[in-house]
Amino acid sequence: MFNSFSERYADQVKLVTDALDQAGINNVLWGHVIEHFLEKSVSSCIDYIIHDGMAEKACQTLLAAGLEPCENGGECTATRHWEDRMEVAAHVHLEGTTLGGNKIPVMFWEKSSLLWAFPELPSSPPSSDDPYYMPIRIPWTYYDSRSQRPPIDLTPARMIKPVKIVEALIWLMCRDRNPNEGLEWGWEHRWQEILESWVQKAPGLAEHGLFCRNELRPDFLPLWDYLCGGEGGQTPKKHRAHYLGLQAKLRAENTLPSTPQPKRRTMKRLMQIIEYHSEKEYQKRVKRYSGNTPWIEED
Ligand SMILES: [Zn+2]
Repeated sequence: MFNSFSERYADQVKLVTDALDQAGINNVLWGHVIEHFLEKSVSSCIDYIIHDGMAEKACQTLLAAGLEPCENGGECTATRHWEDRMEVAAHVHLEGTTLGGNKIPVMFWEKSSLLWAFPELPSSPPSSDDPYYMPIRIPWTYYDSRSQRPPIDLTPARMIKPVKIVEALIWLMCRDRNPNEGLEWGWEHRWQEILESWVQKAPGLAEHGLFCRNELRPDFLPLWDYLCGGEGGQTPKKHRAHYLGLQAKLRAENTLPSTPQPKRRTMKRLMQIIEYHSEKEYQKRVKRYSGNTPWIEED
């Protein structure tokens, strides 16, 4: 691929996909692995989306194929318990010696947590006219316009078509966006960041037939065009209006699941909590020293 390390990395991705296929676990790659690949690099984790309830079987399949269980506990980069983000269903690690000591995590996400609105995941490399999924076969001219090399081919591994990745991210934004003002940054902030990276990549992909705007869900097009600068300047007000409008539409159609994101606290709510506690402390002291209450229980 790009160098000898990425060659070996690509071989591992093919091997893992093949093992999952052989075990009858429908799968598609997602996330950093695709984003890095399109930027001519490799990611420090490999994310697969699989059907709900299949994560345990997927791990057992890969352990039997020579991958390793996690030995890092709560400190593992795959679980990221210290970060505010969605939790992966399960993960294993590539065996260290295959990539020079890099025990890269292979992570499994359940379809309903990311792609609930999408059709069945592919059980084998999809055909080139599949509307949602595509084989990972990228012409070298995408990276270097003068290159004569044959396309990079990661078959049997497959990815979600870039325009459908955008579609999935818009679904996720609508699911996880909190309608209130002044909130702490939540998951929607992460989705938005990834979406912006696709805004950057889309023109280059389109030049090579890898991104077709018209294949986006029609009611998502106004938002996408806005993100791509179609309305001139972007403002927080316009931004909110686009998302809240779409969110309301999808809710009305009953197609938007509720967010699995933990409840967030507004700054205002946080101040209320602090004030409430100091008020309680004050009342306690008043009681203690007023003489009316000779004995007060300590916390
Ligand atoms: Zn781990």
